[in-house]
Amino acid sequence: MPRDDFTAATKRYLALRASHHCSLCKVSTVGPSDEKPTAVTMIGKAAHICAASPGPGARRYDPTTTSAQRSDISNGIWLCANCADLIDKDEVRFTADWLRRAKAEHEKSRKIGNVSGQGDGDIIAIGPSIVAVGSVQRTSPAGTRVQLAHFVEGNGRELFSFAEGFDRLPERDRYILLSELGFGNLLLRAPTIERTNGVYEVEFALQEHLTRISATSGICGMCIETGRMISGMEVLVQNFERTLGMARGTWFANLEGGSDLSDLYWRYKNSPWFARLAMKEMIRLSCLPTFRRDAKEIATPLACVNRVDRVEVPTFKLVDQHLSLTVEFDIEGLGPWVGGLSVFVSMPEQLEESRATAKLHADRIAQIEMTSTAR
Ligand SMILES: [Zn+2]
Repeated sequence: MPRDDFTAATKRYLALRASHHCSLCKVSTVGPSDEKPTAVTMIGKAAHICAASPGPGARRYDPTTTSAQRSDISNGIWLCANCADLIDKDEVRFTADWLRRAKAEHEKSRKIGNVSGQGDGDIIAIGPSIVAVGSVQRTSPAGTRVQLAHFVEGNGRELFSFAEGFDRLPERDRYILLSELGFGNLLLRAPTIERTNGVYEVEFALQEHLTRISATSGICGMCIETGRMISGMEVLVQNFERTLGMARGTWFANLEGGSDLSDLYWRYKNSPWFARLAMKEMIRLSCLPTFRRDAKEIATPLACVNRVDRVEVPTFKLVDQHLSLTVEFDIEGLGPWVGGLSVFVSMPEQLEESRATAKLHADRIAQIEMTSTAR
């Protein structure tokens, strides 16, 4: 009899909903590996509440359920390897009902933005590779203090090495973004990391707020679709959509520039994490200056946006490869603005292809520059 295994997507959602922590013993199921800098060790398992197939050793197998029910996400629970082993050794203690309750309680405790105050908080990004959920504890002219509830990407070791190796990081990577406050910035100096009872606290000072271009400064431009001259909010919306729709690494003149929205879409499609991470990405593009060799003045990609207050994704359905988003921005010279954006989402194969092409062009230009200076 075939096993009714979970699909890769179901496993991923179980892990995300459990925020990569074991639903029983609460240990983190993902961490760094010493094999290479990018390697991770994953000890999590999408375990079956009712066994995937009957037979010796199968626990809680329920013959009245269908194959589809057995491989459905409702029959899964995210566990560490030890706990996954344990629940399959003791059917008396770990009944199906008991496991369903444990799963529900764990997912509830991991819910973001709980109004009870028990919530983990909002997204906090520390540099490009650490994303945590946490809350702001204190903020004063001297600095800000945040508490991290758990990591979404990265881990404690990476956090310490971010602070430790701060001076060696590229300038553009030295930032903190706070979804709770809707903004972020480059750091003034290395952050201080403290760990008390397993909880990380990060204290830092942000650089001075960059003065944004005012929306009332008479910006005008040409509509890329109709060619007619447009001004005001119309130009801004077009700029927002273009900035968010240009994938990182696809423009040869600035391989570090661009947005991660398409990548996030494919990674977190149909999950509530997408809107949260899209908001973090918009904060990054609205608060961090563009790092370009040829930049004449300091500007932010999402010009005029002071703060990102809300990002909603009504549907994940793409229309002509465009995704509709509802956003609330605080715009310089205008104040709060709520509007809809239609953002181009590159297909995974388009991303791969345009990145390869951009890289090729950039390399070629670098080569030409080298030859001409050598002459
Ligand atoms: Zn466990």
